[in-house]
Amino acid sequence: MFRQPTIFPLGKMLEMPDRCEHCGQKMEIEPGFYYGTGYVSYGLSIALTVFNLIWFALIFGIRFSDNSIFWFMGINVAIVLLLQPVMMRYARVIYLYIFVKYGSYEKEELSEPPHQHAPETQVV
Ligand SMILES: [Zn+2]
Repeated sequence: MFRQPTIFPLGKMLEMPDRCEHCGQKMEIEPGFYYGTGYVSYGLSIALTVFNLIWFALIFGIRFSDNSIFWFMGINVAIVLLLQPVMMRYARVIYLYIFVKYGSYEKEELSEPPHQHAPETQVV
């Protein structure tokens, strides 16, 4: 889905081809399509925070009587920031999953008149 197989270099990590190389699905369905992914990555950050809270509480314990809650917050912020680029990419993947039905592009093609497919032979 992305041009770079890893998140490095960071400056290019969100570059995507115009269309899927497998099925031809448009990647940027409309200008600004991915602005909404901010909400998805926000949700992922919250989920990650909950996950961190669970393992931190299990391993170190969280008490209000000492500084453990501050340790947790510091470590959690560090982990969330470190994983932010990864989550931004996952957010786009999830976003496409939400808005594009699998195989919908082929159906779109069939309904377009200029392509002149014979519909009865195009059993999906
Ligand atoms: Zn595809």
